[in-house]
Amino acid sequence: MSVLVVGSIALDTVKTPVEEHADLLGGSASYAAVGASFFSPVKLVGIVGDDFPSDHIDFLKGRNIDLGGLQQVPGKTFRWSGEYMWDMNTRETRSVDLNVFEHFTPTLPAGYTDSQIVLLANIAPSLQSHVLDQMSRPQFVIADTMDLWINIARADLEALLSRVDMLILNDGEARQLTGETSLIKAGAKIREMGPKFVAIKKGEHGCLLFGDGEFFSCAAYPLEDIHDPTGAGDTFAGGLAGYLAASVRGPVGFAQLRAAVVFGSVLASFNVEAFSLERLRTLTQSDIDSRYQSFRLMSQFEVIG
Ligand code: AMP
Repeated sequence: MSVLVVGSIALDTVKTPVEEHADLLGGSASYAAVGASFFSPVKLVGIVGDDFPSDHIDFLKGRNIDLGGLQQVPGKTFRWSGEYMWDMNTRETRSVDLNVFEHFTPTLPAGYTDSQIVLLANIAPSLQSHVLDQMSRPQFVIADTMDLWINIARADLEALLSRVDMLILNDGEARQLTGETSLIKAGAKIREMGPKFVAIKKGEHGCLLFGDGEFFSCAAYPLEDIHDPTGAGDTFAGGLAGYLAASVRGPVGFAQLRAAVVFGSVLASFNVEAFSLERLRTLTQSDIDSRYQSFRLMSQFEVIG
């Protein structure tokens, strides 16, 4: 099974306390599509301008990502710029230039509409819903979101939530969406809004997965050096969706999602080791397998006596 990914494709400028790099490949869909591509074929829906470097197109094609849904139009590609504080967690957005993204309408080519696993990466919830309007009957729909949409498009987001199987968001966004301080209460409240499953990401502290009376707390892989956290959440979502597409035969249950969350976390841990998608360019299946094995050993515990 392949994964349909829709989201932003950007040229990012990222500053950390030690480095700054301009016009890097970024965007929620770029990270998510490449993350998913380590497990399954991917169909990508997005938009770029005529300034989008052909090297990036070649890289995405080389990852077995179908670009039939990628629109390339006259104008400039979406640009985003952010700066990380000393803790490499707090981030300030420095600028956003929507450019061609401003008038983006995601249109699914023939052959995309019957995709079974759908990842609605971070874009306006009305556009995420527009993608679902064009689909026949996806088996499992995952949506990501951000604080901006909770602030300015809450009604659209609530309408979307009633149509998705799983919502992925970070701890601050979960609190903002529900008004709950407790993430456990927030997870339960979001489930009442529609999605059967909710993943709340906690950055370097891992993530919480909620299902029907089921709960899983997944640690984050311990890393000494984080070079660029941008796109960690998108890579996590992509890895999770790709793993599901590769492994699920039948209805998606909590056990499969537990495994998918672990592989999403493994993928995200690689992504933050370098700027943009650089680490994912050289990542191999054996890198993933060996990190999964060490993550598994350090995550299991047994009480003796
Ligand atoms: P994350 O680190 O998971 O928040 O994702 C960062 C990526 O999101 C960057 O590569 C940006 O290009 C992209 N991005 C930033 N703002 C937006 C937005 N309003 N809509 C869609 N994508 C965005």
